[in-house]
Amino acid sequence: MTLEVNQLTGGYSSIPVLKAETFDVQDGELVSLIGLNGAGKSTTINHVIGLMTPFSGTIKLNGLRIEDDVQRYKQQIAYVPEMPVLYSELTLREHVDATIMAYNLDHLVAWDRANRLLKLFRLENKLDWFPANFSKGMRQKVMIVCAFMTDAKLLVIDEPFLGLDPLAVDDLLNLIEEKKAAGVSVLMSTHVLDTAEKHCDRFVLINDGQVNYEGTMEQIKEHYQDLGDSLTDIYLSLA
Ligand code: ATP
Repeated sequence: MTLEVNQLTGGYSSIPVLKAETFDVQDGELVSLIGLNGAGKSTTINHVIGLMTPFSGTIKLNGLRIEDDVQRYKQQIAYVPEMPVLYSELTLREHVDATIMAYNLDHLVAWDRANRLLKLFRLENKLDWFPANFSKGMRQKVMIVCAFMTDAKLLVIDEPFLGLDPLAVDDLLNLIEEKKAAGVSVLMSTHVLDTAEKHCDRFVLINDGQVNYEGTMEQIKEHYQDLGDSLTDIYLSLA
């Protein structure tokens, strides 16, 4: 799945936050949005997943724009938000069933995948629990299970690492690798730069709603050669 964001301008009410952003994510790539608080990472993500409408510019998934076919566009994306959003009146089992319905998945195949993920995140015995019974990290894991059990070709993950324990971070990184190997593209945002540097294929450096630079770690180091050798050093020098 190729995500192409071209000259994207957007924001809240009529106030522009994103100022003509252009970047892409290719088949099987893990690309990270990097930027200070308020740089526009979540706003970019909100536009990509179709939660916000651009003022101008285009967003395409393998050439498909949301206005071409809203349902098809949204079914190609699975989203894990920074703050877990679950339905308070639904159990974990019902969240899995709701995901199956939303993505039109085969029930047996999807439950098979869900069971594997639930076991990985030690949630397999909590199918009758409601969101109120879960800790924040457990709620985040539920959101990861629901996203990773789909057939979505683009995974969008907003700051996945901060609320998860180290075991779960490793598990998540392995799951991302599996998805990438299957050709799924992943767009994430994170402040955990050492992990990002190790695992991401490319980085989109965002400042004040604009893309400062987009490239691999090698390209970033060459572009900002005087600023340091690690993503953290370069990012802090740019701040
Ligand atoms: P963080 O690292 O803190 O999550 P971010 O890079 O994701 O930051 P955004 O949440 O996209 O940043 O915010 C970009 C800009 O949009 C900021 O100036 C912020 O004040 C503004 N903004 C965010 N949410 C809203 C909103 N609901 N209404 C109005 N302005 C908003």
